[in-house]
Amino acid sequence: MKINDVTIIGGGPAGISCAVQLTRYGIKPLILEKEKLGGLLLNANLLENYPGFPKGIKGTELTELLKKQLKRNKIKVLFEEVLNLSFNRKQLEIKTDKKTYFSKFAVIASGTKPKEFKDCSVPEKIKNRIFYEVYPLGTLKNKKIAIVGSGDAAFDYALNLEKENEVIILNRNELPKCIPILFDRAKKSRKINYKKNTNIKSIDCSSDAITLKCVTPKGNYNVNTDYLLFAIGRVPCLDFLSSELKKKRFQNNIDKLLYLAGDVKNGIFRQASIAVGNGIKTAMQIYSEMRKDNK
Ligand SMILES: Cc1cc2nc3c(=O)[nH]c(=O)nc-3n(C[C@H](O)[C@H](O)[C@H](O)COP(=O)(O)OP(=O)(O)OC[C@H]3O[C@@H](n4cnc5c(N)ncnc54)[C@H](O)[C@@H]3O)c2cc1C
Repeated sequence: MKINDVTIIGGGPAGISCAVQLTRYGIKPLILEKEKLGGLLLNANLLENYPGFPKGIKGTELTELLKKQLKRNKIKVLFEEVLNLSFNRKQLEIKTDKKTYFSKFAVIASGTKPKEFKDCSVPEKIKNRIFYEVYPLGTLKNKKIAIVGSGDAAFDYALNLEKENEVIILNRNELPKCIPILFDRAKKSRKINYKKNTNIKSIDCSSDAITLKCVTPKGNYNVNTDYLLFAIGRVPCLDFLSSELKKKRFQNNIDKLLYLAGDVKNGIFRQASIAVGNGIKTAMQIYSEMRKDNK
């Protein structure tokens, strides 16, 4: 039975930085990624607070740089989804959709998943025009897109999409939750329409349009749109933990063998630079544990 030294679940900034730091110690980690390298960065319009890029950097460009760094360090990445993670006789057992792996150490850098919209039902036949992340919509032109939400992600998505499309943002509250700079930019755009105090009562569809029945304190109106994008919050992506691990409700690590890094553990403090810092720190902690074992 082959046992990996370190297996990393998730190929976003946290997982990648952890892997890069581990290779500096001569450790060869394995990254398991269920979708695309870069994780949530693929949705980020412009990172203006990531050190080293004075003019900011697009999430997709930063992803390309991270991929180059993985390649340069010859880090092994397998595109498999982790379905179950458990402790099995002091080893970590990681079952994916393809195989089972055993590992001395594991890092959960699986980020977050979007909260599902549950205010009303969504007709089956328009499910292919409903999205929870912006990157699949990247190639759209001259479309109408309704974004539900009012946080940084909703406004960042709008600023991304308005370059080629018309966008309406529907906020069910009085005030937006996003940072002021994003709100101000959206307000300046003639292609972004912002509506506050707006609840969606029902979602209907005809052959070519989605109709949102909107309820506001000042009256009701319909919004016709081609696509609907929800940005109504995110929760940690931990479905794959075994029932025993779920019970432990750990916040940083278990027995210094299984670690959490990045957005998955950072609550509302979800930023790429924090995720990167977490990834590096986790690698340093693992190296320190390995050295103790070798004494
Ligand atoms: C619209 C938007 C704008 C943003 N703007 C900024 C910004 O300006 N500045 C900034 O610093 N940050 C920004 N962020 C936040 C930043 O993208 C995240 O903080 C960062 O990507 C988190 O990194 P992570 O590695 O922890 O998680 P993620 O990037 O979420 O990566 C997790 C990875 O794990 C994978 N995964 C999940 N479950 C499994 C599984 N079971 N098996 C295998 N793989 C799995 C996922 O597919 C994903 O690739 C923005 C985010 C969004 C959405």
